[in-house]
Amino acid sequence: MKELAERALDLAQLKGAAYGDIRIIHLVTERIDVKNGVVEGLSLNRDQGFGIRVLVDGAWGFASSSRLNLEEVERVTAQAVEIAKASALVKREGVELGPPEAHKGTYRTPAKIDPFSVPLEERIALLLAADGEMRKVKGIAVAESGMTFIKEAQIFASTEGSYIEQEIIESGAGLEAMATSEDEVQTRSYPNSFGRHQATAGYEFIESMGLVENAQRTAEEAIALLTAKQCPSGITTLILGGTQLALQIHESCGHPIELDRVMGTEASYAGTSFLTLEKLGHFRYGSEIVNITADATLPGGLGTFGYDDEGVPAQCTPIVKEGVFMGYLTSRETASKIGQRSNGAMRADGWNRIPLIRMTNINLEPGEWTLEDLIANTEEGIFMDTNKSWSIDDKRLNFQFGTEIAYEIKKGKLGALLKNATYTGITPEFWGSCDAICNRDHWQIWGTPNCGKGQPSQSAHVGHGAAPARFRNVRVGVMR
Ligand SMILES: [Zn+2]
Repeated sequence: MKELAERALDLAQLKGAAYGDIRIIHLVTERIDVKNGVVEGLSLNRDQGFGIRVLVDGAWGFASSSRLNLEEVERVTAQAVEIAKASALVKREGVELGPPEAHKGTYRTPAKIDPFSVPLEERIALLLAADGEMRKVKGIAVAESGMTFIKEAQIFASTEGSYIEQEIIESGAGLEAMATSEDEVQTRSYPNSFGRHQATAGYEFIESMGLVENAQRTAEEAIALLTAKQCPSGITTLILGGTQLALQIHESCGHPIELDRVMGTEASYAGTSFLTLEKLGHFRYGSEIVNITADATLPGGLGTFGYDDEGVPAQCTPIVKEGVFMGYLTSRETASKIGQRSNGAMRADGWNRIPLIRMTNINLEPGEWTLEDLIANTEEGIFMDTNKSWSIDDKRLNFQFGTEIAYEIKKGKLGALLKNATYTGITPEFWGSCDAICNRDHWQIWGTPNCGKGQPSQSAHVGHGAAPARFRNVRVGVMR
């Protein structure tokens, strides 16, 4: 593999590339799906290939192939150079990468148990046990559960002298119980909605989830939601649980800090950003207790790695400090435009995609409260958790979220269960109204394995650390 990489980079330079990099990837993905006591799906996919990115006359060219041999590497390298030359004819300004990045190293997800080494029967048995617990609850119409495992081995090499080997291992799983009545459907998920919670970790992460132990409660909550009170409409105090807060951070902070969106070079999927360049360093994004970091070094985070797909080492960068907007997610090219060095956020969805600026782990740093004290300190309000629906405008300012579950808070105590809970807000106003964040004991990194961006579409695996937090004067009960 090293020879193939060297040949590609030598050839790219011979053909006139000022810069070139190659990523060679072997990917194994396994997925198990169980529905109503039956194994519905079982897939094991193996994929390999390489992608070559070159810079010629200040413009990018990219080409890729699944055939890993010398002849093909030469053909694809020549093709990438031709594409770059064609792009250079229509470029507006030349790409500058800033100072060279030359790194040699290896990184491997510190997984304790290789998930692919655990017998398939054992993994299926765990899902069937959880499925059985859910279906014990009378009235459950559909019980679904699943597991996903990924092993990605990657070599990155560049003409600047980087040579990096990485192996990323991901493990994910989740449950979903659906209850129906004549005129209604309610769903409850565990540990998170949309299928699963995922981490860069081994099978020990699945074992620690307590899927079987939480299955019955999850199903009972789905049933209880059918006859729960509607979420009221009005303005009140809102406490968000960690899983919902993770998506709140994702949509209202993670996406608008992607510097390619800010610069207008990437605009698909609710596209640009209100966090324009003149705001950097002084715009009040949230209250003084709001501290947000982008941290690709956190053990277990779904956005954790050793080096990004430009070979830049994983970093922890302040994004919001004491409420003030301090930083973007950057690539080498975009960072150099604002006089900075890349903070290592370029990631590609496989060998046949060009890297884009993607979230790493975007975290709301913990505060000082216990959840018990926070609820006791809240005279009146609503607690909401687990995302059900979301929408946010093009600039990432006006948002609406719906959650699977909610409870009234009355005189410092959790009260009645509420269904179809929703809230809305404007990003800086909402974060500005944050007046309490729970402590590290309640803090957890949630994995979001389905972040879409780019054309052709790429799906990124990102993380969000969060503990429950309180927001004042929030409009709730806005959609039906
Ligand atoms: Zn996203």
